[in-house]
Amino acid sequence: MLVNMKEMLYKAKENNYAVAQLNINNLEWTKYILEVANELQSPVILGVSEGANKYMGGPKVVANMVKGLIEELNINIPVALHLDHGKSFEMCKKVIDAGYTSVMIDGSKLPLEENISLTKEVIEYAEPRGVTVEGEVGGIGGEEDEANDGIRFAKIEDCIQYVNETHVDFLAPALGSVHGLYKGEPDIQFETMKQVGEATGLPLVLHGATGIPDEDIKEAISCGTAKININTKLQMVWNEAVRKFIKENEAYDPRKVIGSGEKAIKEAAKETIILFQNR
Ligand code: 13P
Repeated sequence: MLVNMKEMLYKAKENNYAVAQLNINNLEWTKYILEVANELQSPVILGVSEGANKYMGGPKVVANMVKGLIEELNINIPVALHLDHGKSFEMCKKVIDAGYTSVMIDGSKLPLEENISLTKEVIEYAEPRGVTVEGEVGGIGGEEDEANDGIRFAKIEDCIQYVNETHVDFLAPALGSVHGLYKGEPDIQFETMKQVGEATGLPLVLHGATGIPDEDIKEAISCGTAKININTKLQMVWNEAVRKFIKENEAYDPRKVIGSGEKAIKEAAKETIILFQNR
């Protein structure tokens, strides 16, 4: 069933595990992820970036596709449909109106006061509609042409002020993680993460988990992280499998070509969900 993220993330935080946000790009990815999560009987968050929303035809197409798949495939686990890195109130409103159950408002590039007022505006619209809101403080890395990999480390006092003034549901404090591939070893500020988790009391979100070693994932969970985002990992394994298939086969049926990545995506999704279960 399609639900917001509140219950699943508080349950995860209380029981010392994290729910995976796996980003979707098309029908096939969505189907594979839902099937794997259902097989494992694990809640799952389908993350959709603004770009992926546009690619798939818009938020109504995505929301109806997800609802249709949940029904047709008899998916009986909690599934959240979440806007990843929404940049404006308008975008958040658009996906909420289309049926998304959760949004991230990413005002992290704005001065703190402006990030706070933008987040409050989104929450005012989201909350009465039962939609949960994730916010970001600092700057998660991974953008080109920026020093320090684009990372702007979140300060504890900024996180506390942001949470106190917005009453946001979940917080992604930028503490050294990077979207995409890491240039060296990830260097996450776990001590600050722990302090932010304790000071705010909120389930925390870790972005940029592709490339973070398993023991660091477990450390993040022990510091209060209850949602962990993976995108690049699934893209890479799909890419590798499909390239190999095309090299070795003459098939031109798109179902065969696109579908040749099924096993790889499913294996990676399964491995990810099991790791985050932290057993
Ligand atoms: P990766 O692409 O590095 O896995 O990060 C995903 C993410 O954080 C989406 O918000």
